[in-house]
Amino acid sequence: MSLLKVEDLSVNYGVIQAVKGVNFEVNEGEIVSLIGANGAGKTTILKTISGILKPAGGKIYYEDREIQSEKSEKIVLGGISQVPEGRHIFPGLTVMENLQMGAFLRKDKAALKNDYDAVFSRFPVLSERKNQDAATLSGGEQQMLAMGRALMAKPKLILLDEPSMGLAPIFINEIFDIIKEIKKQGTTVLLIEQNASKALSIADRGYVLATGNILMTGTGEELLANEDVQKAYLGG
Ligand code: ATP
Repeated sequence: MSLLKVEDLSVNYGVIQAVKGVNFEVNEGEIVSLIGANGAGKTTILKTISGILKPAGGKIYYEDREIQSEKSEKIVLGGISQVPEGRHIFPGLTVMENLQMGAFLRKDKAALKNDYDAVFSRFPVLSERKNQDAATLSGGEQQMLAMGRALMAKPKLILLDEPSMGLAPIFINEIFDIIKEIKKQGTTVLLIEQNASKALSIADRGYVLATGNILMTGTGEELLANEDVQKAYLGG
């Protein structure tokens, strides 16, 4: 079943057309990856889904409801949670306080204890550093905190913007393992990545984006094996 459907989406910054009539969908339970070079429009698409930007044209359906005109807060409450590029944790708050911010809009406060426990068992390092300022975490730990914070909103769909950016290889592998686990536990994932080989290796399906247009789509395996994709995005 389609959880998210993007139809003919275009997004402008003033006169700059960043996204030019893009179509794609994400089915329940999938990891879908959008890959593409710098400036292809990946982040713009995520920000439009989460309601931070408004489209110039097109529609976004989430659970068969149109959401392109809804406020971000309503979109989060509906079950879409974004982990932004560069992570944007709150550096002056502790790890625990950052996680609490993720749960801020939730109405089911009674269920929170279990969900904190689940985040701490998935990210043991966050449990060890619960009372520490988030600013003191390493880059990889901050990425885990940002993911933990997004999970505390109990999303049906999580939007990940370049989770591997700037991380050492050991953390990159760990982050991708965690994304697979998030899927296993029932959350659908839309993953934006410049690390195309890693992203496609865990994706059920992928879309290749260039200068605001979708060039190609296929399963993760098909795209990994595609010669044009290899030449342009996989350094082969
Ligand atoms: P990256 O991987 O480098 O983050 P991206 O695929 O996420 O790239 P976007 O950030 O969505 O790309 O940018 C798409 C286009 O829109 C680019 O040409 C970019 O320069 C332009 N753009 C992005 N943000 C703005 C802005 N606030 N004002 C004007 N142009 C912008």
